[in-house]
Amino acid sequence: MTATTAPTATVFNDSYRCEPPDGRAALPPGLKRIAIVGGGTAGWMAAMLLAHHLGPRGAQVSLLESPAVPTIGVGEGSTPWLRGFFDLLGIEEAEWMPECHATYKCGIAFDGWSTRPGFERYFHPFASMLDNLTMTQFVHNAHARVNGHDVHAHPDRFFIAARLAAERKAPKPARHFPFDVWYGYHFDAALLGAYLHRKAVERGVRYVSCHVEHANLDERGDIRSVTTRELGPVEADFFVDCTGFAGILIQKSLATPFVSFADNLFNDAAVALPTPIGERIGSHTVSHAMKHGWRWEIPLTNRHGNGHVYSSASCAAGEAERELREVLGLGDCAVEARHLKMRVGRVTEHWRRNCLAVGLSQGFIEPLEATALLFIQRTVQQFLEIADQEGLGDRARAKLNDKVNHHFEGTRDYIVTHYKTNSRKDTEYWRANAANPNISPALQELYATWMSGRGIAADVGSQRLGRGYPIFSWYCILAGMGIFPEGERLHPPNGAAAAYDIAEIDNLIERSALNFPDQRAALERIAPRPKEKSLQIYFW
Ligand SMILES: Cc1cc2nc3c(=O)[nH]c(=O)nc-3n(C[C@H](O)[C@H](O)[C@H](O)COP(=O)(O)OP(=O)(O)OC[C@H]3O[C@@H](n4cnc5c(N)ncnc54)[C@H](O)[C@@H]3O)c2cc1C
Repeated sequence: MTATTAPTATVFNDSYRCEPPDGRAALPPGLKRIAIVGGGTAGWMAAMLLAHHLGPRGAQVSLLESPAVPTIGVGEGSTPWLRGFFDLLGIEEAEWMPECHATYKCGIAFDGWSTRPGFERYFHPFASMLDNLTMTQFVHNAHARVNGHDVHAHPDRFFIAARLAAERKAPKPARHFPFDVWYGYHFDAALLGAYLHRKAVERGVRYVSCHVEHANLDERGDIRSVTTRELGPVEADFFVDCTGFAGILIQKSLATPFVSFADNLFNDAAVALPTPIGERIGSHTVSHAMKHGWRWEIPLTNRHGNGHVYSSASCAAGEAERELREVLGLGDCAVEARHLKMRVGRVTEHWRRNCLAVGLSQGFIEPLEATALLFIQRTVQQFLEIADQEGLGDRARAKLNDKVNHHFEGTRDYIVTHYKTNSRKDTEYWRANAANPNISPALQELYATWMSGRGIAADVGSQRLGRGYPIFSWYCILAGMGIFPEGERLHPPNGAAAAYDIAEIDNLIERSALNFPDQRAALERIAPRPKEKSLQIYFW
């Protein structure tokens, strides 16, 4: 066996962190008047971050939203980064979560994506400091198994989050517990948008209800103003395009090319339906494989959100809805379904001229790992960091575009891996996904490294893949899908391969789980957190 670099998890202390922005730093020229066009989640998250960082330095942030175009109204799951968003803004869970029917999220279960015996379901956890106690053993066993040793290497038994999810516990340990646990959220997308709208206006963002018809460019090609139906031209120094899939500024006015991921990711449509929630509330998203795609199941405090994501080339909208209704036991009952189209890919430049694209206007990767809000947050935060360091010139733009594009490519490759490693044979959709030759060179190399039994840490760390997902996530997906030798190619473990006793790991995880409350109980007693400085160590 080849020695490996063990991945480390993330430490993210459970305390409240609101660092006031530096109001004395000079405002980068060109950010005095900022106009955000679009009032979906992207528009309001951008408004909050821009107002927080630049408001004290004299920037005026306005948000223009069409009274005629609705928001997309879906997007109910997050990554743990959303916790950092609220912390940064000084907003307590006790305030926003109940308003948005939000729940805690331990990760995502993938059900039915693999048919390999013992690997029909696995959990992609949000890993934490606590998992450092069992991460080494997991990586060791995964390597041993890929090299033919018959040891336990399914990820679920090595991560506390998988255990908590199975027991419907919240990832909120008792106060005395010495380790912090990273977690994400589920929430009602429309209520989160309304909440952020209210908060942003309270914090000085100016809201203007008006429909933008087009942008007017100056002689250099910068946007000078946008023409609105109600108010005529509205001028600003800097524009943020949050107009959703329409991409009114970045795509239509500035003609930024779009790179489609349709060859890599076949799904382009979705249908969503709510169902009631029972007394016990889950603490994870479930992604169930369907005949022509997959469906999400997201627990909120007042309902389940469900949606079927599918390829319209394989399945008509009516059939997708029928399949979803059938599996949810809804039949033809009165609950109305929402049908959505998705455009999967990204623009070549997220920051072009004096315009930053944020949200669906900059691109979208299908919602399998619920990453879209993370892209929104990261794009705006990285923009602010770079603008502070470098100003608003070509170098700064190139730097941001490079970072965001790498993030898109890395995330796309991770999502592609779910499809590429599937072993279902029931429909042409799944067979075509497994046979799809359109995978990036970086991903091909990663698969080759894994199959050769060598460690993948170096591949993930040194390539674009590393910008999308951390190392442990790659181990989880490849091990969780059961990408190991099968049958007689496995032999009893010998020597170092048999170093760890799975019963001891079970015991450790079981004892740790005793420190965590039931999800509903945790939601009923969310309290403000202690005001102390938090410790954050990221492993990116
Ligand atoms: C099926 C599906 C499931 C998803 N699930 C998740 C998930 O679990 N997690 C996650 O993070 N993300 C998810 N997403 C993505 C998420 O929904 C979006 O990233 C998020 O809602 C942000 O959308 P947006 O604000 O960019 O666009 P939108 O919500 O479409 O908002 C666009 C805004 O622009 C305005 N506008 C449009 N045209 C004009 C105009 N001409 N003038 C003025 N204003 C205009 C509209 O009025 C609206 O306010 C999902 C997306 C889909 C399609």
